[in-house]
Amino acid sequence: MSTFKAIYLEKGDAGFSASLRELSDEALQANAGDGDVVVRIEYSTVNYKDGLALANRAPVVRKWPMVPGIDGAGVVEASEHAGFKPGDRVVLNGWGVGETHWGCLAQKARLKGDWLVRLPDGLSSRQAMAIGTAGYTAMLCVMALQDQGLAAGDGEVLVTGAAGGVGSVAIALLAGLGYRVIASTGRQGERDYLQTLGAADLIDRSSLSEPGKPLQKERWAGVVDTVGSHTLANACAQSRYRGVVAACGLAQGMDLPATVAPFILRGVRLIGVDSVMCPMPDRERAWSRLALELDAAKLESMTREVPLSEALSVAPEILAGRVRGRTVVDVNR
Ligand code: NDP
Repeated sequence: MSTFKAIYLEKGDAGFSASLRELSDEALQANAGDGDVVVRIEYSTVNYKDGLALANRAPVVRKWPMVPGIDGAGVVEASEHAGFKPGDRVVLNGWGVGETHWGCLAQKARLKGDWLVRLPDGLSSRQAMAIGTAGYTAMLCVMALQDQGLAAGDGEVLVTGAAGGVGSVAIALLAGLGYRVIASTGRQGERDYLQTLGAADLIDRSSLSEPGKPLQKERWAGVVDTVGSHTLANACAQSRYRGVVAACGLAQGMDLPATVAPFILRGVRLIGVDSVMCPMPDRERAWSRLALELDAAKLESMTREVPLSEALSVAPEILAGRVRGRTVVDVNR
């Protein structure tokens, strides 16, 4: 019987438990049998959502037992899907993997071929997971701004939650495209880090996180918001006439205590960004752009690596907002 290592989440009479286990191929088949491609995972990652699942902090996991991990990159081992064959290098983000379908914080996953993106040339599986859902969502936000016509010369672009995963990649991408990026962070000690990624200046996140007036002094031509709540409301209230706000996160809160004033008086455009069910053409566009446009040295500078056995200990850190940039997980170490 062939086995593989995985993080295993259980919920039963004894409550919730999370542990590193040795699982059988039979268990994978029994729990993820609707997957038609078996992938030998090389790297996974810990996103904010993985942190929630690993710590049982929000109802991310909706089927038990669960192997968590919303992201994985590796090599196809076996395939019943016409689009993939053994040896193909692939990346997986979202689609409910790690939530309702066994995920990628494991040495092996059984996934649907319709969910997989071919790893673009020039990206290693480790780099793909250094990017992960956080970085791919950052690219979706950049695409949303550009699809609305925001150009590099149009004015300052605010990135909130700047030292986090989405924020760090968004700064690197926008700066690389020539935008003037202003980073909002609660970690003023990360000034050098954020400026190295390309931030032109920093603001303290406390200037955005309290209740504010419906319309404020116009400043932002564009916004990438990973924080939600008052921060998003204030970012809209400070957006310039016809500014564009891409909203993807809720690190401060799920609420949006705003008025319609910025939208009906300044024509501000609020664009929602979802990575989980994002259609394949947009995913492929995002990944091929990431391979071409994200500076490899900047990506490495925002990345730390942990073995699978340490993935669990990252969860409380990311939920407390203490993780800088991205964490990749070497599932074979
Ligand atoms: P991280 O934890 O890496 O980063 C979040 C950052 O938000 C923190 O580093 C911190 O930045 C800031 N922050 C944390 N708590 C607060 C607070 N109470 N008030 C204001 N700012 C705060 O998470 P990710 O970057 O991976 O994800 C960011 C958000 O985006 C999450 O809410 C996540 O769920 C969401 N997300 C959504 C996706 C989608 O499909 N829509 C996909 C991926 C992520 P700093 O220290 O610089 O202030």
